[in-house]
Amino acid sequence: MTHRHRAEKSTDRPFAGPVARRQTVAAHGNITRIEVCACGAQRSVAINGVHRERGEWLDPQPGPAPKYAGGSRVVSVRLPRGLVDELDDEAARSGTARSDVIVERLQR
Ligand SMILES: [Zn+2]
Repeated sequence: MTHRHRAEKSTDRPFAGPVARRQTVAAHGNITRIEVCACGAQRSVAINGVHRERGEWLDPQPGPAPKYAGGSRVVSVRLPRGLVDELDDEAARSGTARSDVIVERLQR
């Protein structure tokens, strides 16, 4: 995933069973909404009244793994949205992971 997925489109279907490992039983029994991100990733959300059980986003295909996976640490940083979009565009153009774009910029 090179961005935070967002539901661009959704389709409602009859409830088709639990969609998450941690179940919200109150959300069961009505509809299952299939949400689709602009990138093609999908998730299912069981909805019953005000109750929601959200499944994981599933990528259409996994992106490239970061080159610097070995000997690295995972950190969480806040970046301006425009910069994240720029990093993702660059990653998509060069066929690398967002992490690699950041590492390469820092090492310049
Ligand atoms: Zn997406």
